[in-house]
Amino acid sequence: MLNDTQLQTLRRLLDEREATLRAKVQALKRAAEERPSAQGPQVEDIGEEGEQRFRNGIEHAEMQRDLEELADIDAARARIDVGHCGECVDCGRDIVFERLKAQPRAVRCIDCQTAYEKTHRTSPRYSA
Ligand SMILES: [Zn+2]
Repeated sequence: MLNDTQLQTLRRLLDEREATLRAKVQALKRAAEERPSAQGPQVEDIGEEGEQRFRNGIEHAEMQRDLEELADIDAARARIDVGHCGECVDCGRDIVFERLKAQPRAVRCIDCQTAYEKTHRTSPRYSA
């Protein structure tokens, strides 16, 4: 079990990360809105339009990832509230605090995470 100080540390880390992500998502949204080519019919052209669309795609994927992380942060905070933070969702053992500090959203201990990554296609956000 984590003590109060440790939980407070995690909360602070989650809050900070959330603020960073929200600012980034806002900036990406604004950038997308300001770009005329983001709206209207897509032009099938590999020229400038295609390049622009390619960049939009990358930004969209990035924003998607950020939004997923924000959802993870909410979930992590909810786990703190119900007292389940720091418990591995797979084996129920404690997740070491050092790991949580590096990855406040972690829901698995390192053993289970390693096993999980072997059986699931992983995205970078899940790597420890
Ligand atoms: Zn585990």
